[in-house]
Amino acid sequence: MARIVMKFGGTSMAGTERIRNVAARVKREVDAGNQVAVVVSAMAGETDRLVGYCREASPLADPAEYDVVVAAGEQITAGLLAITLQSAGVKARSWLGWQVPFRTTAAHSVARIEDVGTDAILAGMARGEVAVVPGFQGLTDDNRVTTLGRGGSDTSAVALAAALKADRCDIYTDVDGVYTTDPRIVPRARKLSRITYEEMLELASVGAKVLQTRSVELAMKEKMVVQVLSSFSDAPGTLVVDEDDEMERMIVVGVVADRGEAKVTLVGVPDVPGVVAGIFGPLADANINVDMIVQNIAKGEGTTDVTFTVPRAQLPASLAVLETAQAGIGFKQLISDDDVAKISVVGVGMKSHAGVAATMFRALASRGINIQAITTSEIKVSVLIPQDYVELAVRVLHTAYGLDGPAADAETEA
Ligand code: ADP
Ligand code: ASP
Ligand code: MG
Repeated sequence: MARIVMKFGGTSMAGTERIRNVAARVKREVDAGNQVAVVVSAMAGETDRLVGYCREASPLADPAEYDVVVAAGEQITAGLLAITLQSAGVKARSWLGWQVPFRTTAAHSVARIEDVGTDAILAGMARGEVAVVPGFQGLTDDNRVTTLGRGGSDTSAVALAAALKADRCDIYTDVDGVYTTDPRIVPRARKLSRITYEEMLELASVGAKVLQTRSVELAMKEKMVVQVLSSFSDAPGTLVVDEDDEMERMIVVGVVADRGEAKVTLVGVPDVPGVVAGIFGPLADANINVDMIVQNIAKGEGTTDVTFTVPRAQLPASLAVLETAQAGIGFKQLISDDDVAKISVVGVGMKSHAGVAATMFRALASRGINIQAITTSEIKVSVLIPQDYVELAVRVLHTAYGLDGPAADAETEA
Protein backbone atom coordinates (compact mmCIF):
# COMPACT_ATOMS: atom_id res chain seq x y z
CA MET A 1 0.00 0.00 0.00
CA ALA A 2 1.21 3.47 -0.86
CA ARG A 3 0.02 6.90 0.16
CA ILE A 4 -0.45 9.08 -2.92
CA VAL A 5 -1.44 12.65 -3.62
CA MET A 6 -3.06 13.03 -7.06
CA LYS A 7 -3.51 16.53 -8.51
CA PHE A 8 -5.81 17.30 -11.44
CA GLY A 9 -5.52 20.57 -13.41
CA GLY A 10 -8.21 22.76 -14.93
CA THR A 11 -8.61 20.98 -18.26
CA SER A 12 -8.93 17.65 -16.44
CA MET A 13 -11.75 19.06 -14.24
CA ALA A 14 -13.66 20.95 -16.97
CA GLY A 15 -17.18 19.52 -16.80
CA THR A 16 -19.09 16.51 -15.53
CA GLU A 17 -17.70 14.00 -18.03
CA ARG A 18 -14.09 14.91 -17.28
CA ILE A 19 -14.70 14.82 -13.54
CA ARG A 20 -16.09 11.28 -14.04
CA ASN A 21 -12.86 10.41 -15.83
CA VAL A 22 -10.88 11.81 -12.88
CA ALA A 23 -13.02 9.83 -10.43
CA ALA A 24 -12.27 6.65 -12.40
CA ARG A 25 -8.52 7.31 -12.12
CA VAL A 26 -8.82 7.93 -8.39
CA LYS A 27 -10.90 4.78 -7.97
CA ARG A 28 -8.21 2.77 -9.73
CA GLU A 29 -5.64 3.83 -7.12
CA VAL A 30 -8.06 3.15 -4.26
CA ASP A 31 -8.92 -0.29 -5.65
CA ALA A 32 -5.19 -1.05 -5.81
CA GLY A 33 -5.16 -0.59 -2.01
CA ASN A 34 -3.63 2.89 -1.84
CA GLN A 35 -4.50 5.77 0.47
CA VAL A 36 -5.35 8.76 -1.69
CA ALA A 37 -5.73 12.51 -1.26
CA VAL A 38 -6.75 14.46 -4.36
CA VAL A 39 -6.00 18.13 -5.03
CA VAL A 40 -8.11 19.82 -7.70
CA SER A 41 -7.96 23.00 -9.78
CA ALA A 42 -10.93 25.07 -10.85
CA MET A 43 -12.46 24.17 -14.21
CA ALA A 44 -10.38 25.50 -17.14
CA GLY A 45 -11.10 29.19 -17.70
CA GLU A 46 -12.93 29.61 -14.39
CA THR A 47 -10.13 31.42 -12.52
CA ASP A 48 -9.72 33.83 -15.46
CA ARG A 49 -13.45 34.49 -15.37
CA LEU A 50 -13.37 35.24 -11.64
CA VAL A 51 -10.30 37.49 -12.03
CA GLY A 52 -12.24 39.33 -14.78
CA TYR A 53 -15.15 40.00 -12.40
CA CYS A 54 -12.76 41.49 -9.83
CA ARG A 55 -11.19 43.77 -12.46
CA GLU A 56 -14.63 44.88 -13.64
CA ALA A 57 -15.67 45.65 -10.08
CA SER A 58 -12.52 47.72 -9.53
CA PRO A 59 -9.19 47.76 -11.37
CA LEU A 60 -7.48 48.15 -7.99
CA ALA A 61 -9.50 45.48 -6.17
CA ASP A 62 -8.51 44.83 -2.55
CA PRO A 63 -6.25 41.74 -2.83
CA ALA A 64 -7.85 40.20 0.25
CA GLU A 65 -11.28 40.33 -1.39
CA TYR A 66 -9.83 39.28 -4.76
CA ASP A 67 -8.72 36.09 -2.99
CA VAL A 68 -12.22 35.50 -1.62
CA VAL A 69 -13.54 35.63 -5.19
CA VAL A 70 -10.89 33.66 -7.08
CA ALA A 71 -10.61 30.88 -4.46
CA ALA A 72 -14.23 29.98 -5.26
CA GLY A 73 -13.47 28.04 -8.46
CA GLU A 74 -11.67 25.25 -6.60
CA GLN A 75 -14.45 24.91 -4.00
CA ILE A 76 -16.87 23.91 -6.75
CA THR A 77 -14.64 21.24 -8.34
CA ALA A 78 -13.71 19.77 -4.94
CA GLY A 79 -17.36 19.27 -4.02
CA LEU A 80 -18.22 17.93 -7.47
CA LEU A 81 -15.40 15.38 -7.40
CA ALA A 82 -16.43 14.20 -3.91
CA ILE A 83 -20.01 13.72 -5.15
CA THR A 84 -18.81 11.90 -8.27
CA LEU A 85 -16.53 9.59 -6.27
CA GLN A 86 -19.34 8.78 -3.83
CA SER A 87 -21.68 7.93 -6.69
CA ALA A 88 -18.98 5.60 -8.07
CA GLY A 89 -18.96 3.78 -4.73
CA VAL A 90 -15.77 5.37 -3.38
CA LYS A 91 -15.89 6.84 0.13
CA ALA A 92 -14.87 10.48 -0.23
CA ARG A 93 -15.00 13.76 1.67
CA SER A 94 -13.95 17.27 0.65
CA TRP A 95 -11.84 19.54 2.88
CA LEU A 96 -11.62 23.22 1.93
CA GLY A 97 -8.43 25.23 2.42
CA TRP A 98 -9.59 26.51 5.82
CA GLN A 99 -10.68 23.06 6.97
CA VAL A 100 -7.36 21.33 6.25
CA PRO A 101 -6.00 24.04 7.00
CA PHE A 102 -3.36 25.36 4.60
CA ARG A 103 -1.77 28.14 6.70
CA THR A 104 -0.13 30.76 4.51
CA THR A 105 1.56 34.14 4.66
CA ALA A 106 -0.73 37.17 4.37
CA ALA A 107 0.63 38.12 0.91
CA HIS A 108 -2.79 38.05 -0.73
CA SER A 109 -2.92 36.68 -4.30
CA VAL A 110 0.68 35.39 -4.02
CA ALA A 111 0.64 33.78 -0.57
CA ARG A 112 3.18 31.14 0.46
CA ILE A 113 2.21 27.98 2.32
CA GLU A 114 3.74 27.84 5.81
CA ASP A 115 2.04 24.83 7.32
CA VAL A 116 -0.45 22.14 6.30
CA GLY A 117 -2.70 20.45 8.87
CA THR A 118 -3.01 16.70 8.52
CA ASP A 119 -5.28 15.56 11.39
CA ALA A 120 -8.61 15.68 9.56
CA ILE A 121 -7.26 14.07 6.39
CA LEU A 122 -5.35 11.32 8.18
CA ALA A 123 -8.42 10.52 10.29
CA GLY A 124 -10.46 10.31 7.09
CA MET A 125 -7.87 8.05 5.47
CA ALA A 126 -8.04 5.79 8.52
CA ARG A 127 -11.79 5.51 7.87
CA GLY A 128 -11.03 4.52 4.28
CA GLU A 129 -12.03 7.87 2.77
CA VAL A 130 -10.45 9.69 -0.13
CA ALA A 131 -9.77 13.32 0.82
CA VAL A 132 -10.63 15.84 -1.90
CA VAL A 133 -8.90 19.18 -1.40
CA PRO A 134 -9.18 22.38 -3.45
CA GLY A 135 -5.79 23.61 -4.62
CA PHE A 136 -4.75 27.27 -4.74
CA GLN A 137 -6.44 28.32 -1.47
CA GLY A 138 -5.14 28.97 2.01
CA LEU A 139 -5.76 30.86 5.22
CA THR A 140 -3.80 33.55 7.08
CA ASP A 141 -3.16 33.48 10.81
CA ASP A 142 -6.15 35.89 11.10
CA ASN A 143 -8.30 33.38 9.24
CA ARG A 144 -8.59 35.39 6.02
CA VAL A 145 -8.74 33.47 2.72
CA THR A 146 -5.59 33.62 0.53
CA THR A 147 -4.58 32.28 -2.87
CA LEU A 148 -1.15 31.06 -3.96
CA GLY A 149 -0.57 32.78 -7.32
CA ARG A 150 -1.57 31.44 -10.74
CA GLY A 151 -0.86 27.76 -11.17
CA GLY A 152 -0.74 27.41 -7.39
CA SER A 153 -2.61 24.11 -7.16
CA ASP A 154 0.62 22.32 -8.07
CA THR A 155 2.16 23.79 -4.93
CA SER A 156 -0.87 22.84 -2.82
CA ALA A 157 -0.42 19.25 -4.01
CA VAL A 158 3.30 19.02 -3.26
CA ALA A 159 2.83 20.71 0.14
CA LEU A 160 0.04 18.30 1.04
CA ALA A 161 2.10 15.32 -0.14
CA ALA A 162 5.02 16.44 2.02
CA ALA A 163 2.82 17.03 5.08
CA LEU A 164 1.13 13.62 4.68
CA LYS A 165 4.53 11.97 4.10
CA ALA A 166 3.12 10.59 0.88
CA ASP A 167 5.15 8.18 -1.22
CA ARG A 168 4.69 10.37 -4.29
CA CYS A 169 2.81 13.28 -5.79
CA ASP A 170 1.22 12.66 -9.20
CA ILE A 171 0.38 15.80 -11.21
CA TYR A 172 -2.22 14.96 -13.86
CA THR A 173 -2.53 17.53 -16.65
CA ASP A 174 -3.42 17.93 -20.33
CA VAL A 175 -0.04 16.78 -21.69
CA ASP A 176 1.54 13.45 -20.80
CA GLY A 177 4.75 14.75 -19.28
CA VAL A 178 7.46 17.37 -19.36
CA TYR A 179 8.77 17.91 -22.88
CA THR A 180 11.89 19.50 -24.33
CA THR A 181 9.62 22.43 -25.17
CA ASP A 182 5.89 23.16 -25.11
CA PRO A 183 4.51 20.34 -27.31
CA ARG A 184 1.72 22.70 -28.37
CA ILE A 185 4.29 24.94 -30.09
CA VAL A 186 6.69 22.28 -31.40
CA PRO A 187 5.05 18.99 -32.42
CA ARG A 188 8.50 17.36 -32.54
CA ALA A 189 9.17 18.11 -28.86
CA ARG A 190 10.41 15.04 -27.00
CA LYS A 191 9.02 13.77 -23.71
CA LEU A 192 11.63 13.46 -20.96
CA SER A 193 11.22 10.28 -18.92
CA ARG A 194 13.15 11.85 -16.01
CA ILE A 195 14.31 15.35 -15.21
CA THR A 196 16.31 16.71 -12.25
CA TYR A 197 14.69 19.03 -9.70
CA GLU A 198 17.31 21.63 -10.59
CA GLU A 199 16.44 21.63 -14.30
CA MET A 200 12.69 21.51 -13.69
CA LEU A 201 13.03 24.44 -11.29
CA GLU A 202 14.84 26.48 -13.93
CA LEU A 203 12.35 25.51 -16.68
CA ALA A 204 9.45 26.52 -14.42
CA SER A 205 11.06 29.76 -13.31
CA VAL A 206 11.68 30.92 -16.88
CA GLY A 207 8.03 30.29 -17.73
CA ALA A 208 7.28 26.64 -18.63
CA LYS A 209 3.91 26.55 -16.95
CA VAL A 210 3.54 22.79 -16.68
CA LEU A 211 4.53 23.07 -12.97
CA GLN A 212 4.41 26.17 -10.75
CA THR A 213 7.95 27.19 -9.71
CA ARG A 214 7.20 27.00 -5.99
CA SER A 215 5.92 23.44 -6.33
CA VAL A 216 9.30 22.37 -7.73
CA GLU A 217 11.18 24.34 -5.06
CA LEU A 218 9.19 22.57 -2.40
CA ALA A 219 9.53 19.12 -3.99
CA MET A 220 13.30 19.60 -4.17
CA LYS A 221 13.49 20.69 -0.53
CA GLU A 222 11.28 17.86 0.69
CA LYS A 223 12.74 15.27 -1.72
CA MET A 224 9.19 14.52 -2.85
CA VAL A 225 9.04 12.42 -6.02
CA VAL A 226 6.80 14.26 -8.46
CA GLN A 227 5.37 12.63 -11.54
CA VAL A 228 3.76 14.60 -14.41
CA LEU A 229 1.11 12.55 -16.21
CA SER A 230 -1.85 12.90 -18.56
CA SER A 231 -5.42 12.72 -17.27
CA PHE A 232 -6.44 11.46 -20.68
CA SER A 233 -4.04 8.62 -21.41
CA ASP A 234 -2.08 5.93 -19.62
CA ALA A 235 1.22 6.91 -21.25
CA PRO A 236 4.17 6.90 -18.86
CA GLY A 237 4.84 10.44 -17.63
CA THR A 238 7.91 12.35 -16.48
CA LEU A 239 9.57 11.79 -13.09
CA VAL A 240 11.08 14.82 -11.37
CA VAL A 241 13.87 13.45 -9.17
CA ASP A 242 17.45 13.93 -8.03
CA GLU A 243 20.09 13.41 -10.70
CA ASP A 244 20.81 9.72 -11.23
CA ASP A 245 22.71 7.42 -13.57
CA GLU A 246 19.62 6.50 -15.60
CA MET A 247 19.27 10.04 -16.88
CA GLU A 248 19.98 10.87 -20.46
CA ARG A 249 22.94 13.27 -20.56
CA MET A 250 21.77 16.36 -22.41
CA ILE A 251 23.51 19.72 -22.55
CA VAL A 252 20.20 21.50 -23.08
CA VAL A 253 17.01 19.84 -21.77
CA GLY A 254 14.51 22.47 -22.73
CA VAL A 255 13.55 25.62 -24.61
CA VAL A 256 10.95 27.87 -22.97
CA ALA A 257 8.95 30.83 -24.27
CA ASP A 258 7.42 33.32 -21.85
CA ARG A 259 5.09 36.03 -23.10
CA GLY A 260 4.40 37.29 -19.59
CA GLU A 261 6.94 40.11 -19.38
CA ALA A 262 7.16 43.69 -20.63
CA LYS A 263 10.22 45.84 -21.32
CA VAL A 264 10.90 49.22 -19.71
CA THR A 265 13.71 51.57 -20.79
CA LEU A 266 14.88 54.65 -18.91
CA VAL A 267 16.73 56.95 -21.30
CA GLY A 268 19.31 59.48 -20.12
CA VAL A 269 19.91 58.23 -16.58
CA PRO A 270 22.82 60.06 -14.83
CA ASP A 271 25.79 57.68 -14.65
CA VAL A 272 26.59 58.15 -10.95
CA PRO A 273 26.79 55.72 -7.99
CA GLY A 274 23.43 54.97 -6.38
CA VAL A 275 21.27 55.69 -9.38
CA VAL A 276 20.46 52.04 -10.07
CA ALA A 277 19.40 51.64 -6.45
CA GLY A 278 17.18 54.68 -6.99
CA ILE A 279 15.42 52.87 -9.85
CA PHE A 280 15.01 49.39 -8.43
CA GLY A 281 14.44 50.33 -4.78
CA PRO A 282 11.00 51.89 -5.37
CA LEU A 283 10.02 49.00 -7.69
CA ALA A 284 10.94 46.46 -5.02
CA ASP A 285 9.02 48.46 -2.41
CA ALA A 286 5.97 48.13 -4.69
CA ASN A 287 6.47 44.32 -4.82
CA ILE A 288 7.38 44.44 -8.51
CA ASN A 289 9.67 41.62 -9.53
CA VAL A 290 12.25 42.88 -12.00
CA ASP A 291 13.76 40.16 -14.18
CA MET A 292 16.25 40.95 -16.99
CA ILE A 293 18.39 44.09 -16.53
CA VAL A 294 20.68 45.74 -19.08
CA GLN A 295 22.67 48.90 -18.38
CA ASN A 296 24.46 50.47 -21.32
CA ILE A 297 27.87 52.08 -20.98
CA ALA A 298 27.78 55.81 -20.40
CA LYS A 299 27.68 58.05 -23.44
CA GLY A 300 29.62 61.33 -23.74
CA GLU A 301 27.41 63.47 -21.55
CA GLY A 302 27.67 61.18 -18.51
CA THR A 303 24.28 59.55 -18.92
CA THR A 304 23.31 55.98 -19.69
CA ASP A 305 20.19 53.97 -20.60
CA VAL A 306 18.80 51.23 -18.37
CA THR A 307 16.48 48.54 -19.75
CA PHE A 308 14.70 45.86 -17.71
CA THR A 309 11.66 43.61 -17.76
CA VAL A 310 8.72 43.38 -15.34
CA PRO A 311 5.69 41.07 -15.27
CA ARG A 312 3.33 42.30 -17.98
CA ALA A 313 0.44 42.58 -15.53
CA GLN A 314 2.55 44.94 -13.41
CA LEU A 315 3.62 47.24 -16.27
CA PRO A 316 1.10 50.02 -15.45
CA ALA A 317 2.07 49.90 -11.77
CA SER A 318 5.79 49.94 -12.71
CA LEU A 319 5.39 53.01 -14.93
CA ALA A 320 3.46 54.78 -12.19
CA VAL A 321 6.21 54.04 -9.64
CA LEU A 322 8.94 55.28 -12.00
CA GLU A 323 7.08 58.45 -12.94
CA THR A 324 6.69 59.26 -9.25
CA ALA A 325 10.41 58.63 -8.71
CA GLN A 326 11.52 60.58 -11.82
CA ALA A 327 12.81 63.66 -9.99
CA GLY A 328 14.94 61.51 -7.68
CA ILE A 329 16.34 59.29 -10.46
CA GLY A 330 16.72 62.07 -13.02
CA PHE A 331 16.06 60.14 -16.26
CA LYS A 332 15.03 62.01 -19.43
CA GLN A 333 12.52 59.62 -20.97
CA LEU A 334 10.52 56.51 -20.02
CA ILE A 335 9.73 54.01 -22.80
CA SER A 336 7.81 50.74 -22.46
CA ASP A 337 7.13 47.86 -24.83
CA ASP A 338 4.91 44.89 -24.10
CA ASP A 339 5.36 43.35 -27.53
CA VAL A 340 8.26 41.19 -26.31
CA ALA A 341 8.85 37.60 -25.24
CA LYS A 342 11.60 35.90 -23.31
CA ILE A 343 13.12 32.75 -24.80
CA SER A 344 15.30 30.60 -22.53
CA VAL A 345 17.39 27.47 -22.96
CA VAL A 346 18.05 25.38 -19.84
CA GLY A 347 20.34 22.47 -18.97
CA VAL A 348 22.79 21.40 -16.25
CA GLY A 349 25.16 20.34 -19.05
CA MET A 350 25.92 24.03 -19.58
CA LYS A 351 28.04 23.98 -16.43
CA SER A 352 30.66 21.92 -18.26
CA HIS A 353 30.09 22.80 -21.91
CA ALA A 354 31.09 26.03 -23.59
CA GLY A 355 29.29 27.46 -26.60
CA VAL A 356 25.66 27.04 -25.57
CA ALA A 357 24.99 30.78 -25.70
CA ALA A 358 26.92 31.16 -28.97
CA THR A 359 24.76 28.44 -30.56
CA MET A 360 21.67 30.32 -29.43
CA PHE A 361 22.79 33.66 -30.85
CA ARG A 362 23.88 32.09 -34.13
CA ALA A 363 20.59 30.20 -34.56
CA LEU A 364 18.51 33.34 -33.90
CA ALA A 365 20.69 35.44 -36.20
CA SER A 366 20.28 32.90 -39.00
CA ARG A 367 16.56 33.76 -39.00
CA GLY A 368 17.06 37.49 -38.61
CA ILE A 369 15.69 37.54 -35.05
CA ASN A 370 16.97 40.57 -33.16
CA ILE A 371 17.96 40.18 -29.50
CA GLN A 372 16.99 43.05 -27.19
CA ALA A 373 18.40 41.83 -23.87
CA ILE A 374 20.32 38.80 -22.55
CA THR A 375 20.67 37.20 -19.12
CA THR A 376 22.49 34.06 -18.09
CA SER A 377 22.81 31.83 -15.04
CA GLU A 378 24.89 28.71 -14.50
CA ILE A 379 22.32 26.52 -16.25
CA LYS A 380 20.29 28.94 -18.39
CA VAL A 381 20.54 31.55 -21.13
CA SER A 382 17.59 33.90 -21.77
CA VAL A 383 17.04 36.45 -24.51
CA LEU A 384 14.33 39.02 -25.08
CA ILE A 385 12.93 39.14 -28.63
CA PRO A 386 9.94 40.67 -30.45
CA GLN A 387 6.80 38.66 -29.72
CA ASP A 388 6.03 37.94 -33.38
CA TYR A 389 9.10 35.69 -33.55
CA VAL A 390 8.33 33.45 -30.57
CA GLU A 391 7.29 30.31 -32.40
CA LEU A 392 10.04 30.59 -34.99
CA ALA A 393 12.67 31.15 -32.29
CA VAL A 394 11.53 28.17 -30.23
CA ARG A 395 11.52 25.88 -33.28
CA VAL A 396 14.92 27.05 -34.51
CA LEU A 397 16.53 26.62 -31.08
CA HIS A 398 14.92 23.24 -30.52
CA THR A 399 16.52 22.08 -33.76
CA ALA A 400 19.85 23.85 -33.09
CA TYR A 401 20.32 21.91 -29.81
CA GLY A 402 19.45 18.60 -31.44
CA LEU A 403 16.25 18.17 -29.44
CA ASP A 404 13.83 17.36 -32.28
CA GLY A 405 12.25 13.93 -31.98
CA PRO A 406 10.59 12.00 -34.77
CA ALA A 407 7.43 13.71 -35.96
CA ALA A 408 5.29 10.75 -34.84
CA ASP A 409 6.30 11.38 -31.20
CA ALA A 410 4.47 14.63 -31.42
CA GLU A 411 0.98 13.42 -30.64
CA THR A 412 -0.19 14.50 -27.21
CA GLU A 413 -3.57 13.57 -25.93
CA ALA A 414 -5.07 16.98 -25.36
P1 ADP B 1 -3.03 22.42 -15.55
O1 ADP B 1 -4.29 23.17 -15.81
O2 ADP B 1 -3.21 20.94 -15.61
O3 ADP B 1 -2.32 22.88 -14.32
P2 ADP B 1 -1.23 24.00 -17.19
O4 ADP B 1 -1.88 24.67 -18.34
O5 ADP B 1 -0.92 24.82 -15.99
O6 ADP B 1 -2.10 22.72 -16.81
O7 ADP B 1 0.15 23.31 -17.65
C1 ADP B 1 0.14 22.40 -18.73
C2 ADP B 1 0.58 23.12 -20.01
O8 ADP B 1 1.95 23.48 -19.90
C3 ADP B 1 0.53 22.27 -21.26
O9 ADP B 1 -0.75 22.28 -21.84
C4 ADP B 1 1.60 22.89 -22.16
O10 ADP B 1 1.01 23.73 -23.14
C5 ADP B 1 2.40 23.78 -21.21
N1 ADP B 1 3.84 23.57 -21.29
C6 ADP B 1 4.77 24.55 -21.41
N2 ADP B 1 6.00 24.05 -21.48
C7 ADP B 1 5.89 22.70 -21.39
C8 ADP B 1 6.83 21.63 -21.41
N3 ADP B 1 8.15 21.84 -21.52
N4 ADP B 1 6.37 20.36 -21.30
C9 ADP B 1 5.05 20.13 -21.17
N5 ADP B 1 4.10 21.11 -21.16
C10 ADP B 1 4.51 22.38 -21.27
N1 ASP C 1 -7.07 27.75 -10.72
C1 ASP C 1 -5.80 28.42 -10.44
C2 ASP C 1 -5.25 29.06 -11.70
O1 ASP C 1 -5.86 28.96 -12.76
C3 ASP C 1 -4.80 27.51 -9.80
C4 ASP C 1 -4.37 26.32 -10.64
O2 ASP C 1 -5.10 25.87 -11.52
O3 ASP C 1 -3.29 25.79 -10.38
O4 ASP C 1 -4.24 29.70 -11.65
MG1 MG D 1 -1.06 24.53 -13.95
